[in-house]
Amino acid sequence: MGRSLLPAAIQVLERGWLSANNVLLFDGTEATLVDSGYVTHAAQTVALVREALAGRRLADLINTHSHSDHIGGNAALQRAFGCRIHVPEGIAQTVETWDEEALLLTTAAQQGERFAADQAVAAGDRLVMGGLEWLALPAPGHDMDALVFHSPDARGLISGDALWREGFGILFAEVIGSGGGLEAAQTTLEAIARLSLDWVIPGHGAPFVEVDEALAAAFARLRYFEEDGARMARNAIRACFTFVLLEQRCVTLYSLPDYLAEVPLYREANRRFLGLAPDALAGWLVDELVRAGVAHRRQGFLCAT
Ligand SMILES: [Zn+2]
Repeated sequence: MGRSLLPAAIQVLERGWLSANNVLLFDGTEATLVDSGYVTHAAQTVALVREALAGRRLADLINTHSHSDHIGGNAALQRAFGCRIHVPEGIAQTVETWDEEALLLTTAAQQGERFAADQAVAAGDRLVMGGLEWLALPAPGHDMDALVFHSPDARGLISGDALWREGFGILFAEVIGSGGGLEAAQTTLEAIARLSLDWVIPGHGAPFVEVDEALAAAFARLRYFEEDGARMARNAIRACFTFVLLEQRCVTLYSLPDYLAEVPLYREANRRFLGLAPDALAGWLVDELVRAGVAHRRQGFLCAT
């Protein structure tokens, strides 16, 4: 997209795998950051943010939701810059008690670094960032407590993992939670479709202006999942395991069936939607990732390509 379509006071640090994008919004000598990346990238995130700040002060850090690739740099950024941390109201308690299961850390075998939030952001709150007024809107689906931020004046949206150019984040409530993720995502996408929008800054991938196309793709993906939950489970298993593989680079093939049977996300997704024996699940997953070019087999290991 023409990045120039974004207001000048907004800078997107587009990240690769593992880390969500970091969005910096400048107000004079101060700045606000939305989302902080994955914990193993925290030093890189601090360096990127420091460079982009160019001497300005990072006053505030706001998270769209609680997943590891969005909150992993919180502790390091607060140490480096002394910023106040704001989390969605729905996760404030989870963060305070550092419930690693509710944060999906143990659930998906991911890492995080504990931090303390200073304040909660609730749906309906108005924030000033980048010289613009933003409204926090509820965006359940991928994460039932997620928020997105809409600027009516700039006709823009910071969407987190509620809407990407091609799809949206895993509907964890369906795969491992108590359900309701599909309906919630439908409601969220309908609400986004009613906003006046010229551009979207997603949690992953480049900012885009093809808002109608992105919404159409997201609605189509929802219908594809609604028709057959196994598609949703396979997608979730593939995406989460790709994340693990990129973090660890290589895993042993012989231990993969046990691993998939032990980590709750894979175990539950398989139990609810696929019903495969551990060996069959591992065999399918390895074939999928190899065929997609994401991974290759090497002397008893499966390694990220
Ligand atoms: Zn997420």
